[in-house]
Amino acid sequence: MGLQRFEFTQVRMGVDARIIVYAHDEERAVRACRAAYTRISELEQMMSDYRADSELNSLCQQAVGRWVRVSPKLFYVLWRGQKLAQQTDGAFDVTVGALVRLWREARHTGKLTDEATLRSAKARSGYRLMELSLPRRAVRLKAEGMQLDLGGIAKGYACDWALRVLRRHDITRALIQMGGDIVAGNTPPGEQGWRIELTEGGATILSNAALSTSGSTEQYVEIDGVRYAHIIDPRTGLGLTNLVLARVRARDGITADSLATAAAVLGETGAKKLERLYRGVQVHIVKPGGS
Ligand code: AMP
Ligand code: MG
Repeated sequence: MGLQRFEFTQVRMGVDARIIVYAHDEERAVRACRAAYTRISELEQMMSDYRADSELNSLCQQAVGRWVRVSPKLFYVLWRGQKLAQQTDGAFDVTVGALVRLWREARHTGKLTDEATLRSAKARSGYRLMELSLPRRAVRLKAEGMQLDLGGIAKGYACDWALRVLRRHDITRALIQMGGDIVAGNTPPGEQGWRIELTEGGATILSNAALSTSGSTEQYVEIDGVRYAHIIDPRTGLGLTNLVLARVRARDGITADSLATAAAVLGETGAKKLERLYRGVQVHIVKPGGS
C-alpha cells in the first residue's frame, strides 16, 4: 500500500504542536507520533519556566553560587543559548527570565513596571551572570533571583527531537510545527517539498530544513499607546516596541528558532552578521524596525 497522510495536534509548551507524517498505515503513524509527543513532553518538563518543578526551575533555585549538574539536553540548549548571547552581545539572552516575568505581569495588569522593579530585574538578568562548565556539564548562577527562560529556543529544539524520534520509527516524510517554529524532514511523496504559507503572503518550500518566524506582531501588550512585544530588548529590559518580523531558514530547528528571536532584536544589520556567523543560514527581516 502507498503512503497516507496523517496529521495530529496536541498542546505542548503552550502552543499547538502539529505533526504531519506520511506512513503506510494509521497504526504506525499513531505509534510514531505518540513517541514524538512523549519526547516533546519530556523536553517541556526539563525546559519549561512555567512549571515550578521543571529541571530548569529547580536549577534556578539551586545554582546560585554553586555548580549544578544538569541533563545533557538541557545543557546543550543552555550552551547554544549562551554561545548566541556571546555572538550577539546579549541581544539573545536566556537569562532575561526576570524581565519576561515583568512583561507577563504588565500584560496582566495593563500597567508598566515601576523603575525600581525594572532595575532590580535587570540586575538579575544578563548572560554574563550564567556560567557553564562543559567538563562538569554544570551551571552556576551569579545572582540571587535569576530566572532562566528558554522560550526563544526550546520549541525549535523540540521539533528537531520530534523529527529524530519519527525517523527512529521509520517515518522520514514528516513536518513538525510548534507555533512559529517549523522543522521539515523528507518531502511528501511526489512533491518538491513542504509548502509553507507565509503570514505576509506567498509561500516557501521546505525539506530537511527548519524555518522559524519571530517578531513583535503577534504577542504584545499595549500601554499608553505603545506596544511592548513578548521579546525583550535586553538593553532596555522592556518588550520590543518596534514592529519587526524576522524569519530564519536553517538546517535545524534549534538554530532557526534562536536566530529568529535574536534577529527580531537585532534587525537588519544584525541579520547580516548572523548569516556570516552561521553558515548556510538565511536570515530575513520581513518587516523592518521603526515605529
Ligand atoms: P520566540 O517566539 O521564539 O521569538 O521566543 C520568544 C520568547 O523567548 C519569549 O516569550 C521569552 O520567553 C523569550 N525571550 C524574550 N526575550 C528574549 C531574548 N532577548 N533572548 C532570548 N529569549 C528571549
Ligand atoms: Mg525563537
